[in-house]
Amino acid sequence: MTAAIVELEEVGGRLALEVKERSGAAPMSCYQCTKCSSGCPVAGWADLKPHELVRLVQMNQRKAVLRSRFIWECTSCQTCVTRCPQKVDIPAMNDALRAMSASEGVAASGTAVPLFNEIFLKSVRKRGRVYELGLMAAFKLRSIRLFEDAAKAPMMLAKGKLPLSGPQVAGRSERERMFREAAEGGGE
Ligand code: SF4
Ligand code: SF4
Repeated sequence: MTAAIVELEEVGGRLALEVKERSGAAPMSCYQCTKCSSGCPVAGWADLKPHELVRLVQMNQRKAVLRSRFIWECTSCQTCVTRCPQKVDIPAMNDALRAMSASEGVAASGTAVPLFNEIFLKSVRKRGRVYELGLMAAFKLRSIRLFEDAAKAPMMLAKGKLPLSGPQVAGRSERERMFREAAEGGGE
């Protein structure tokens, strides 16, 4: 009798396969050693730890994964993938999961990161570079955090960290093309 050889990546559910296709990461390679979580700077206060996220992906728990705060709060610091004996690229997984979460309209309500990302990208799309003062004002208004960190504003203004007029870089049509291609999931 011939022994069947099954590639580990082929035994995952739909979510694991989709994540692998979108990110290039290999969630099914994880054997839950938890080394990623012991070095992760956000594991102590996020709603999931890195190894828990990978396990949920393995178990095809789409709703729990796409609605988690953790996928947004990951700082992409690369500590987990550096420590992982299986080289599971959790930050790349989180990039893919954020895109999936946003496109399905299920981003966690307990985090302002999706809103910040939206305002940041809008500023870059319009101006070619981020306009810090405009970004801060729009974020504070829309997140209803008007007075959070307000005490720092005078010092930042005095040091020229918040210029009153925003940058305007040429190449708007090029930027529009890049954003369009990114939205379509590709490019050349
Ligand atoms: S370090 Fe790698 S193998 Fe270990 S739990 Fe984390 S992802 Fe899985
Ligand atoms: S990349 Fe994200 S998940 Fe990995 S250690 Fe850094 S914050 Fe944690």
